[in-house]
Amino acid sequence: MVATAAQPAARGAPSRRRRAINLRIPGPTTLPPAVRRALAGQMINHRGPEYAALQQETVEGVKRVFQTKNDVLFFPGSGTGGLEAAIVNCFSPGDPVLAITVGSFGERWCAIARAFGLAVDQLQIEWGKAAEPDLVRRRLRQGPPVKGVLITHNETSTGVTNPVGEIAPLVREHEALLLVDAVSSMGAIPFETDRWGVDVAITGSQKAWMIPPGMAMLSVSDRAWQAAEQAKLPRSYWDFRAMRRYMERGQTPYTPAITQMYGLRAALKLIFEEGLENVFRRHHAIGEQTRRGLRRLGLQLAADPRYFSDTVTAVVSPPGADMSLVRKRLREEYGVVIASGQDHWRDTHFRIGHLGYVRPAEIAQALRALGEVLGSH
Ligand code: PLP
Repeated sequence: MVATAAQPAARGAPSRRRRAINLRIPGPTTLPPAVRRALAGQMINHRGPEYAALQQETVEGVKRVFQTKNDVLFFPGSGTGGLEAAIVNCFSPGDPVLAITVGSFGERWCAIARAFGLAVDQLQIEWGKAAEPDLVRRRLRQGPPVKGVLITHNETSTGVTNPVGEIAPLVREHEALLLVDAVSSMGAIPFETDRWGVDVAITGSQKAWMIPPGMAMLSVSDRAWQAAEQAKLPRSYWDFRAMRRYMERGQTPYTPAITQMYGLRAALKLIFEEGLENVFRRHHAIGEQTRRGLRRLGLQLAADPRYFSDTVTAVVSPPGADMSLVRKRLREEYGVVIASGQDHWRDTHFRIGHLGYVRPAEIAQALRALGEVLGSH
């Protein structure tokens, strides 16, 4: 099953063959047909009973995926908005936090924390490596006391999944809040919000959820609620308290992302029909398939093999290859869309996304195309 997206022919131009697009970027991800149908739904009154039922059903499903009994909040916005929401609701100016960064998205969150005047101690780990629990333990013991720890579960720029389950108890020992960016992992890689004791987990609709960009989803623990009551950072749109107050009565303070929620309802149905554990297994198998295939092409993977991500693989660009040309040929000749590297890895690495609505056939086609383009480059 290769996902297809119609390529609109220019008006008046001879009609072109519809090309199947194999979208192998780490989000936005391909939409399943059932989700696309659901997205065409007519608008409803967001202050009426039909919306309240939609919200209740989707919140319950999202809690199952987060593996939490904590409150779950939906904000219209992208994942980055969710990261900012976590900061402004949990802290006051000058609060000390430890930001553990292993790539571009960790650095983005660190920058947000700094922009809001937090005293950020950054544990900056080399790209491609993970946050080793021993390193975090040492930093928490030796560094200044902190009120919170920010960490990226799955670093999309490097294809590394941090061992958050092992790091969480270390954070607990220091009675700090644990805030986790799970934007590119939730729903694809096991994430046990309650068992690990994650205070705020953040995800974004356009990743493993198989719905369009535009909605951030967050879980908020009791400890995070206490912090939200005391936090002094200014907040308005992102205020957790107002969102909870309204969501408890089946509404949101401002217009919700109704279309995303239609898609979410359909996507959750697919996830639970497949079974959450099976979804995780499929992502792992497809991650392995991708890594195996890339190695067979003689390519070097960028991440520490102990922490390979099952949603995205970062690859070292082969010496002498003009990867922007390779990406262009893949797109134009094979309909395969892959991602460049990010920041200082922009030209030296490329990335293949394998999350959400993806089956082995799409990975096989992408790898075949990559092999052919590199072979004739
Ligand atoms: N964090 C991670 C790990 C991501 O992968 C992304 C997006 O790719 C973000 C944060 C930012 O999300 P958005 O682009 O939806 O703002």
